[in-house]
Amino acid sequence: EETGETNFVGYESLEAEAKVMEIIKNGERVNSAGTGEKVEFVLDVTPCYAESGGQVSDHGKLTASGIEVEIFKVTKPIENLFVHRGKIIKGSLKKHGRVLVQADRSRRTAVCRNHTATHLLHKALREVLGDHINQAGSLVDPERLRFDFTHFTAVTAEELQKVESVVNNTILSNLPVEAFETSLDEARAMGAAALFGEKYGERVRIIKIGEFSLELCGGTHLKSTAEAGLFKLAGESSVGAGLRRVEAFTGENALRHVKAMEEQLDQIARMVKAAPREAPGRVEGLLQEIKELEAENEVLQAQLAKHQVQDLAGRVKEVRGVKVLAGRAVAPDMDSLRGMVDLLRDRIGSGVIVLGSTPGNKVNLVTAVTKDLVKSGLHAGKLVKELASVVSGGGGGKAEMAQAGGKDPSRLDEALEKAYRFVDGQIK
Ligand SMILES: [Zn+2]
Repeated sequence: EETGETNFVGYESLEAEAKVMEIIKNGERVNSAGTGEKVEFVLDVTPCYAESGGQVSDHGKLTASGIEVEIFKVTKPIENLFVHRGKIIKGSLKKHGRVLVQADRSRRTAVCRNHTATHLLHKALREVLGDHINQAGSLVDPERLRFDFTHFTAVTAEELQKVESVVNNTILSNLPVEAFETSLDEARAMGAAALFGEKYGERVRIIKIGEFSLELCGGTHLKSTAEAGLFKLAGESSVGAGLRRVEAFTGENALRHVKAMEEQLDQIARMVKAAPREAPGRVEGLLQEIKELEAENEVLQAQLAKHQVQDLAGRVKEVRGVKVLAGRAVAPDMDSLRGMVDLLRDRIGSGVIVLGSTPGNKVNLVTAVTKDLVKSGLHAGKLVKELASVVSGGGGGKAEMAQAGGKDPSRLDEALEKAYRFVDGQIK
């Protein structure tokens, strides 16, 4: 109370002459602070907006003869008390000294673009999606705007396009943005949008954008909508039950966003060796080509499998009267390897089959024991476990069929060789 209230002049002006009312260093009130020190200070007048209502604070500069202080945050711990946080770049800041305070114009302009666009977005969402849309929160900073609202389903791409073009149309219409104060009752009677659950005083500030939008708001705004330049939505997502979030860019950030998308399209076009406008057709053609190649590949794989099965079937050895076949196969995955084992089993009628393959520097192993041999103590699961340990892997399965993976393809031959010895030991 003894510090006095701060007179905020930042709606009309970006600079003001002020008196330093209080300096706080490390939580203590001090009479002065020197170069390099980080301080908080209170002024009798400031053009710097303090973060509130979803809008971030201004940045700014404080100067006086021989003194320069950078302001990087302004807060409002209680109504009408603005606390500036800054670093003394040069000189010594003294209590009761006279200074010039300036808010950073380019940051403020970018924030104003996003704040005015937030109001346009709010109204556009109501127009496109319906009157059930209510603001649930927002964040306005120099880079982008974020708007949370009540809605029970995802907003479709078509709806988002509509919202974006409603906002851009109001920007192109260059509607005036006016601010005025009135009573809360009067504001309600005018149908001004307010934040549900927010406490408002008797006097409220209203932002009126042409005949398009009317909202209770304490933030800083453009003078007219055209200053926003361009509005680009950048994403829509869920942030809870019945709550959606959209993010958007305006002005230079919107242009930068469009530029980035253009570069991505160029990059894709270069990759598929087409002009950007021909890129979608070219990608579609390539996807079709991949589909055809995949079908062709499947036929070739089946033929290859058949040939391999023929070769392998001729290499069956007898171990104490049991046909055993252990061999290498070329198979892209476990499924096709299992398919080959099935074919071989049908072919030899009764026996033990072990196939190994090494796709992508890994080992796949499949073992099979025909039903008649399970009774004599042979077990595909035990067999594959034993062999997998040789190729640094693991696996298992049932008595008739099992599979395993391994990490050491260099020892596959060793594992396959071991199959004969293991079967020999298993036969009762
Ligand atoms: Zn607002």
